[in-house]
Amino acid sequence: MTVTRLPRPTLDSYEWQGKGLCRGKAVEQFFTEDLDLGQRARREQTEAAKAVCAVCPVVTQCLQHALAVPEPFGIWGGTTASERARMILDIAG
Ligand code: SF4
Repeated sequence: MTVTRLPRPTLDSYEWQGKGLCRGKAVEQFFTEDLDLGQRARREQTEAAKAVCAVCPVVTQCLQHALAVPEPFGIWGGTTASERARMILDIAG
């Protein structure tokens, strides 16, 4: 992991995380990669996590963070890791 790509650890950089609707929810709901789930269960869990993100007040900041780092695992800003990888490729042109 290249640490130099991480945002500077200032309070402003992470303050939004305290407003995320995923706070207090089971971490497994947003990080299904390591769980022993069938394809259907994983899809349902992913959609449930995305539904939380869809009404989250900091979804924009969350997605911007996940694209900037980039976060290689989990649901961030209503996107999966593979969706973010495609977005990064699209941005890079
Ligand atoms: S957008 Fe989703 S992952 Fe990001 S803080 Fe909100 S609920 Fe959590």
